[in-house]
Amino acid sequence: MSVWDDLVGQSQTVTTLSMAVADPERMTHAWLFTGPPGSGRSNAARAFAAALLCPDQGCGHCRECRTALDGTHADVEFVATEGLSIQVQQARELALLSAHRPSVGAWRIIVVEDADRLTERAADALLKAIEEPVARTVWMLCAPSLEDVIITLRSRSRHVRLRTPPTGAVADLLVRRDGVDPPMARYAARAAQSHIGLARRLARDEGARIRRRDVVKLANRIHTTVDAVAAAADLASIADEESGAAGQERDAAERARLLETLGADPAARTLPPPVRARLAALEKEQKTRATRFARDIVDRCLIDLTSVYRDALMLHLDAPVELVNEDLRPEVEKLRRSRSPVQLLAAMDAIATARERIDANVPPALALEAMAVGLRAPRG
Ligand SMILES: [Zn+2]
Repeated sequence: MSVWDDLVGQSQTVTTLSMAVADPERMTHAWLFTGPPGSGRSNAARAFAAALLCPDQGCGHCRECRTALDGTHADVEFVATEGLSIQVQQARELALLSAHRPSVGAWRIIVVEDADRLTERAADALLKAIEEPVARTVWMLCAPSLEDVIITLRSRSRHVRLRTPPTGAVADLLVRRDGVDPPMARYAARAAQSHIGLARRLARDEGARIRRRDVVKLANRIHTTVDAVAAAADLASIADEESGAAGQERDAAERARLLETLGADPAARTLPPPVRARLAALEKEQKTRATRFARDIVDRCLIDLTSVYRDALMLHLDAPVELVNEDLRPEVEKLRRSRSPVQLLAAMDAIATARERIDANVPPALALEAMAVGLRAPRG
């Protein structure tokens, strides 16, 4: 067993990182992990942190390894934003922290999980700390791609690129680590297109599987403009349902915890002004998070929807590849019969455009409607 076990399909990365661990004298102080969502960027950073702190270079079971992996090690700071961006104030605090020697371990490690969400000012605040690092400090930045990271930070970091793991490797991980049945693991890895976190959720949560199936089935339901508008509304509500359930529970728990910390009575009719102010700040933060989360879910639904068109295209071309939606093959066959390859490509384009628009802050409902109109079946 070692800390690298869960980095499936990333042998090159594991080699690079283990070599760095083995040669502490020549340590690089700033690393940048990139890779598609779900490829395990932050897991790679965690494993690397554990290996650096472990007396055996990442045994996977000692105290250093376990605490570094689960995020409780005193010398490993994880920065993940729930909001849309990491602000300058937080970056300044990190820069200060990075100047301190490690308290118990060999290294102080700062993992910025969403380096793509650093504002320009926040990145500037980190720049000096990253450029002139303290001897025992290591920065690990994570982002989807190099282009997502402000160039000044990018140019000062050593780049490690994770790739999308093969579905077989993801399925094996689910079986080995999460105890999922092999057929379910294979389905989940395929349907999630190798996104590890999503595959685990699909494997464990029947609601998530049903919602995914509903999205896939939309493709064959859109014939007329009326259908298109209805489908867009359905898609929006599937996404809402997905994001709502998780969000509300968490929001309520956070509220209760805050009231407890402040020593306020949650049942009181009126709360003192300072408590009210803190609550208002929390609610604002929660709203920002909900917006981001909802957008991420819509995006995920659109990736699922694209996969049906992609599968239908593969059938047209007789391509010797596995279908993402093997479990829904009749749906895919039906779509193939009603659309030419050119029409399938046009549909994939329409979905890609909607994703770009939503990413550029167009209200999802509008972008989805425009997209769905582009997905109508050709006449006749
Ligand atoms: Zn260890």
